[in-house]
Amino acid sequence: MPDWDKYRIRQGEEVEITTVRHIAHVPTAKRIIEDGRIKSGLIYDKSLLNRSRISVVWLSANTWANGSMYGTVAFEIPWADIVNGQNIYWVEAVTDYNPTAFRFLLSKRDVKSPHAQPYDPARDNGPLRYRDGRWFRAGNLTSEFMIEEDISLDQSTALDFVNHHPRYCSSDGSACEDVRQPPSPQKTAARMLAHVLAKDHHEIDRLWKPPGVKAVFTPLEIGYSGLWLSLATRRTEFGGALRNPKSCTRVVMGALALYGLNQVEAARNLLSLINSEDHFERALLKAIRRHFREPRWKPDW
Ligand SMILES: [Zn+2]
Repeated sequence: MPDWDKYRIRQGEEVEITTVRHIAHVPTAKRIIEDGRIKSGLIYDKSLLNRSRISVVWLSANTWANGSMYGTVAFEIPWADIVNGQNIYWVEAVTDYNPTAFRFLLSKRDVKSPHAQPYDPARDNGPLRYRDGRWFRAGNLTSEFMIEEDISLDQSTALDFVNHHPRYCSSDGSACEDVRQPPSPQKTAARMLAHVLAKDHHEIDRLWKPPGVKAVFTPLEIGYSGLWLSLATRRTEFGGALRNPKSCTRVVMGALALYGLNQVEAARNLLSLINSEDHFERALLKAIRRHFREPRWKPDW
């Protein structure tokens, strides 16, 4: 019996794969946006491949009902774009995950490793199958795909914000700040939005406001409402001297930079230089309208 047989798709557990996600913590997600790509990295966990010097990007088809242990920012990518032209190798099952994870390596080269067995999804009966132009996985297991190449953000079709797992973290263990103080998806969205506004990053503008998505569900609205809830609505003691729109905008940009670094109190203190919540709102709207080049944008809620 091949190693993957134990993890084959069982009756009633078959789930189609259409998209996969790369999930990262906020600091890494910021770097991904700056790089314009998800850079592959060496494998550090207990994987059989961790001495292989193979560099991979981790993707999964799962969504995490109990929160993700990979972080809070998700970049979604169509599976067909990922799998196209790749050789597929079975690597291992990780049974100390719950549910058990199956791992495949996808590479465009011919991988020679005792820990990577060539796998034909059309013929081999494991947890990943290809049939009539469609892909399926064992829905009761954790899917992990290791892609041996960088993935450009141009390939990403959606941005999402998720809860961190309450206890487990793939990178930092109990040191993870998201485990110690779990951020809401709205808070994560607000941090990421503050960062791209303050740094003037335009790489993923289309993902903040995807066409065809109802305005109120766009990441932009989620981030904006997160910023509003944590910086306005009686959180900041406005009443400072600044009323001039230009000065207010400068202060807001500084506050967004601080907020992106999770220095929320410092951001509020800076904003208190502004005279009123109205002045703050106008300056924040202006920052968003200018960034997204939509002079009339306003939140839908
Ligand atoms: Zn974590």
